Amino acid sequence: MQGIQDYAGIAGTDVIDQLRQLAEPLRGMKVVHVNSTRVGGGVAEILAKLVPLMNDLGIETHWEVITGNADFYQCTKHFHNALQGDSVEIPASLLRNFEEINRQNAEQLRPALEDADIVFIHDPQPAPLLSMMPERKGRWIWRCHIDVSRPHRPVWKYLRPFLTGYDASIWSLPDFAQSLPHPQYIIPPSIDPLSDKNVELPASEVEEVYSRFDIDPQRPLLTQVSRYDRFKDPVGVIRAYRLSKDFAPGLQLVLAGGSATDDPEGEAVLDEVHAAANGDPDVKILLLPSDAHRTINALQRASDIVMQKSTKEGFGLTVTEALWKGKPVIGGNTGGIRLQVINHHTGFLVSTPEGAALRTRYLLNHREVLESMGQKARTFVRDNFLLTRHLREYLTLMVILRNDHADRVELS
Ligand code: UDP
Repeated sequence: MQGIQDYAGIAGTDVIDQLRQLAEPLRGMKVVHVNSTRVGGGVAEILAKLVPLMNDLGIETHWEVITGNADFYQCTKHFHNALQGDSVEIPASLLRNFEEINRQNAEQLRPALEDADIVFIHDPQPAPLLSMMPERKGRWIWRCHIDVSRPHRPVWKYLRPFLTGYDASIWSLPDFAQSLPHPQYIIPPSIDPLSDKNVELPASEVEEVYSRFDIDPQRPLLTQVSRYDRFKDPVGVIRAYRLSKDFAPGLQLVLAGGSATDDPEGEAVLDEVHAAANGDPDVKILLLPSDAHRTINALQRASDIVMQKSTKEGFGLTVTEALWKGKPVIGGNTGGIRLQVINHHTGFLVSTPEGAALRTRYLLNHREVLESMGQKARTFVRDNFLLTRHLREYLTLMVILRNDHADRVELS
């Protein structure tokens, strides 16, 4: 496990010194993060790295995961889909169960949460916990990771009363902020450059994935890494691949996904993906275990182009991961992808499979552009989306909360 000092090589010693300075007034505080899955998806990916580093900086930080029954995850998946714009009607029985499961989790977590100085609640799943902690002594922050630029209003209306009591909320980009009676902060997520997912790999480890997944290293490779979720549009990726293949006959496609324990729709989407691929031997549909970080790392490095054709995206860590590996990303023109794919610089923004196919063909035919975009992509991530920047913004927010949102705080 890395300590904060290990990041000096990539981020610079001044960045590490600044983190230590920011953490100083927070030393000894108790912080708890709460979400709904320990593996699968971007939130778990971030917390697995952020929590140990906060501890290393002297802030006692815990990560709690709420658990629920099948109806609970069905309900929270409906929330996810509705907040990202789907018109979903959620049966009242599922909502009552959602509240009851939160009550049960509140009983389990009460000692830790009532005692904490700062609690970060991630996404809607555990949002009601605040209303069940009348004795809380700390500050509570709701951290939204979802693309809520155009939420389905009835579902937002149901969730909003659970959020109004928070002391602050955090969003990945300004487009997502909503009318709420507390200060709102914009903090985009980040990747850990030293994690198995992102660390440099020996060439042999990259080459090994070619043989493991029967990929021809002599032919171009397009990859999308994502949970099997309709907002990630894996079927659209297959269509884009097909359209590109007319002009790049050797093209191969990898769709690499796994399942998150709090996502009940993955299987159905995977079936749709298999149907769309229709047995094409150049389309590899992979269902990877949740700890396959080095495999994903190697697949991203083995790719010529990485695609993230989402139609809604809170942030898209998979985009950051690919850019960091010097790969241009062809990404859906939506949400957090827009923060990362700077059109014509770090990749291309697209709205349709046809657009994605045009950009794929262009990059495959202009290798020098592909290479130079890849270099810009890596620099862009280094300057904006590494864990150290993310940590600095979280620490700053904690200092602000500790000082009652004072405009000016002196650090010693
Ligand atoms: N991921 C993974 N295995 C998979 C699919 C995704 O480890 O089979 C990781 C991926 O590398 C990324 C995270 O899960 O770190 C997904 O985060 P993102 O923000 O892209 O999407 P989310 O799943 O949170 O919507």
